Amino acid sequence: MLAKRASLAELAGEQWDLIVIGGGITGAGVLLEAARQGRKALLLEQQDFAWGTSSRSSKMVHGGLRYIAQGEVRLTRDALRERERLLRDLPGLVERAQYLFPLRDGRFPGRWPMTAVLSLYDFLAGIRDHRFVPRAQVLMRVPGLDTAGLNGAMSYTDALTDDCRLVVRCLLEAARHGGRSLNYARATAIRTENGRTENGRARVDVTDLESGDSLTLNAGAVINATGAWANRLGGAGQRIRPLRGSHLFVDPARLPVADCLTLINPRDDRPVFVFPWEGVTCIGTTDLDHGDSLDQEARASGAEVDYLLELINGQFPKVNLGREDILSTMAGVRPVIASGDGKDPSKERRDHAVWEENGVVTVSGGKLTTFRLIALDALCAAGLLGPREARRARRSNAPLFRPLPDAPEQVDQFLHGVQDDEALLRWVLSHEAVVHLDDLLLRRTRLGLLRRDGGAGLAERLRALTGELLGWDAARWEQEWARYEEIRERFYGVPPADRDRAAA
Ligand SMILES: Cc1cc2nc3c(=O)[nH]c(=O)nc-3n(C[C@H](O)[C@H](O)[C@H](O)COP(=O)(O)OP(=O)(O)OC[C@H]3O[C@@H](n4cnc5c(N)ncnc54)[C@H](O)[C@@H]3O)c2cc1C
Repeated sequence: MLAKRASLAELAGEQWDLIVIGGGITGAGVLLEAARQGRKALLLEQQDFAWGTSSRSSKMVHGGLRYIAQGEVRLTRDALRERERLLRDLPGLVERAQYLFPLRDGRFPGRWPMTAVLSLYDFLAGIRDHRFVPRAQVLMRVPGLDTAGLNGAMSYTDALTDDCRLVVRCLLEAARHGGRSLNYARATAIRTENGRTENGRARVDVTDLESGDSLTLNAGAVINATGAWANRLGGAGQRIRPLRGSHLFVDPARLPVADCLTLINPRDDRPVFVFPWEGVTCIGTTDLDHGDSLDQEARASGAEVDYLLELINGQFPKVNLGREDILSTMAGVRPVIASGDGKDPSKERRDHAVWEENGVVTVSGGKLTTFRLIALDALCAAGLLGPREARRARRSNAPLFRPLPDAPEQVDQFLHGVQDDEALLRWVLSHEAVVHLDDLLLRRTRLGLLRRDGGAGLAERLRALTGELLGWDAARWEQEWARYEEIRERFYGVPPADRDRAAA
């Protein structure tokens, strides 16, 4: 188990086969696969696990209809196979969800092109789950949807998850195979000899952000899995184009949805999802170049909020959704590999890239859904997995996850609004390396995003639990609460309108 956070000093003096830098889904997947192969592996994350993009995605474990529409059949097939594997291995944490794609007169795609695309989509996944839903039924399933030109919808299935819990689940599973991970540990430099890392010649300088201590760790191989930050640690072989996407979590009483709706914004023909998630309604995403510093958390701009509200109010003319209905916002930065030709952000390819420079393998781009395949590619490039073993692993149907002994069932569940469950909170505080209150309220659980009061109503209970399980005294609690409130307000709050910035 991850248990309490390890100290950096405890991990120094060891000779690691592999150090993975970056504690998002990519790094966690690499750690899990390396540990499963019997490698002595350590993961370092500069903030909290999944603090980067991997807690801020659209939560979809999917093949990606847009990829198939763009002709990316292989990418879609691989992602769909991984989706089916995750549905099998992590029931409750990855759940099949019903999607509806409304069809309108004169708008592309119509019923038959969609049927063709969905037939291929289902065929690649090995299922048959799509059908046409007549207009009257659509309006029963989605009350309030604009009726203008509506002639039905295509229904199909994909899957939803809690991305952050998926990352932590990978780390917990890796720990069972001996994989270690440390949050709040920033790699400041990777040093190799003559561009080679064999014989333990790679050195990673690390600073423990909690204690302020710095030291050097030794490893046979280093994989830079820092996503949007990849260019900062020397992985400059490909240029990352950071693209921001933002979501709104809104009061489900104001916009209740039972299905995941794929709405096409008539303004720019971009798809936006509206879906039920953990008891609230989630709307997203935008897609624009992220010009803000990567040193601070990404946050939604006022213009992005306007863009999403305008879309909803166009598609649900009587709802009149406003800023007061938004419980919180969430913005993430996609580590997209730049094509270099200044494409429209939504047209950039979303697959991953692995490259090697001076003995360090960098992996970036890609999707949440395909983390296992991305990990195998990275381990191959680092020489820790032979091509034949990698081929076998790719085809293997062996379960990646086993049930966690002693864990309450809520640990592997989501979408059920059980996040304030006592057993879950106790497990998380005891087994999931929580360092700060925001780790608990914004990532291990999403209480801070889902509740209008940001969790204030739970404060007394949380104060008692963190005292008992983490040893926090009154002063530490006050400090943590103030830190959490500031982060929530600045980065997950509702920004005022600022129409002078581009939204998407
Ligand atoms: C808005 C949005 C919606 C998306 N929706 C979906 C979706 O529905 N389905 C899907 O499959 N994919 C989706 N994606 C893509 C997916 O979320 C990303 O591809 C994935 O999360 C990237 O994971 P990562 O581990 O590579 O990067 P990250 O999660 O960003 O992890 C990199 C980590 O490295 C850490 N780091 C950086 N520098 C250092 C350092 N020096 N030392 C130590 N640690 C460091 C960072 O703090 C960060 O936590 C979406 C992306 C966005 C932005």
